[in-house]
Amino acid sequence: MPPLLQSRHLATEIPGPGSTQLARRRAMAVPRGVGSTLPVYALRAGGGIVEDVDGNRLIDLGSGIAVTTVGNAAPRVVEAVQQQVAEFTHTCFMVTPYEGYVAVAEALNRITPGEFEKRSVLLNSGAEALENAVKIARSYTGKTAVAAFDHGYHGRTNLTMALTAKSMPYKSGFGPFAPDIYRAPASYPYRDGLIDKELGSDGERAAERAIGVLENQIGAHNLAALVIEPIQGEGGFIVPAPGFLPALLAWCRDNDVVFIADEVQTGFARTGAMFACDREGPTGLAPDLICTAKGIGGGLPLAAVSGRADIMDAPHVSGLGGTFGGNPVACAAALGALAAVEADDLVGRARQMERLIFERLGRLQADDDRIGDVRGRGAMIAVELVQPDTNAPDPALTAALAAACHRAGVIVLTCGTFGNVVRLLPPLTISDALLSEGLDVLAGELAKL
Ligand SMILES: *Cc1c(COP(=O)(O)O)cnc(C)c1O
Repeated sequence: MPPLLQSRHLATEIPGPGSTQLARRRAMAVPRGVGSTLPVYALRAGGGIVEDVDGNRLIDLGSGIAVTTVGNAAPRVVEAVQQQVAEFTHTCFMVTPYEGYVAVAEALNRITPGEFEKRSVLLNSGAEALENAVKIARSYTGKTAVAAFDHGYHGRTNLTMALTAKSMPYKSGFGPFAPDIYRAPASYPYRDGLIDKELGSDGERAAERAIGVLENQIGAHNLAALVIEPIQGEGGFIVPAPGFLPALLAWCRDNDVVFIADEVQTGFARTGAMFACDREGPTGLAPDLICTAKGIGGGLPLAAVSGRADIMDAPHVSGLGGTFGGNPVACAAALGALAAVEADDLVGRARQMERLIFERLGRLQADDDRIGDVRGRGAMIAVELVQPDTNAPDPALTAALAAACHRAGVIVLTCGTFGNVVRLLPPLTISDALLSEGLDVLAGELAKL
């Protein structure tokens, strides 16, 4: 095949005939419950482009939901995977272990925030990482209650549905949910600030509100863990007000509550730091446990719980594990992806992209009062679309804008509790030219709506 060109190109309408035919086969083979954002079927991808089966080349501002942070089919990942897949594909770490798993655990222990001794357990998906973090926290504390936050998203298994805030589409009709899960108010600077300016900017006050709910409705002596995304992903790329997370962490430390940071979406260079917690306050924030997945495997399924050795070692021997957890091919991919992040300074690249995206979207916001807020960090930035007079969420405009971008050959995703957020998660290997072109398309399509 000729090399994948790094340019947007529309060979057919979106979707083209090849994708339309695959959609017909899919309708007879795959349940409708599995949704897809775009109607096109991928053939290959890399750099900042996804090419479909009809020869359309789309600018990738989604990274398969924050997964291909190091780029799709990244050369270091491809090479590591090809070598490993030819050596062995699986023995099960619980049967005959292998070095790759240990090396990934060592790497995660090194790069995750916190100077203390750490351990990491490897799993298959973000949801499975959250499930295990809760198991570990309960085992360590001897307590059972777990608190999550408004706007939080943690996965689609039974326990993680319970942790997730939003009913549609994640929970509705799928209950009953795991017991002893509670919800506390989050810090949502834009929407909090519309009601109470100080609450929107003072994270300590927002934390007081949350802690009040925790103490009143659960009681610290019952609470095993607090589960929180340092920047809420599906909930709308919500960056909490400064001071919110440190105040919660301090309260957890005082009350023997395990602080679990869900960095499944924010982790691994995405936010212009190796982890979003690293950019909290002047010195960063060191959670007790960190859940990772999405970006860490360079596109292969891999997840982890990393954290304080004393907590991680609480579960009894053989209490943790799983058949595929830490699969050797996924581990090789992760080591290749981490080598790419470190050798190519992708953390620095995410900061460059942050400046470029904020500059462009800032100009757009100044010209268009339907953009209520522009927020995020690194290569994880979103616009919240509202009705100008009331600031009420505008999910219809959001859906129309995303669909228009897709027809124009730009992959963007939406999110938000109110469905009114367009989020950008470009791979860190995209060129400035493609990134700018993607943002120009977004601006141009918004102007037409
Ligand atoms: C995607 C996501 C999950 C779930 O990960 P899966 O691999 O889909 O199970 C959990 N938490 C956050 C913050 C996520 O973005």
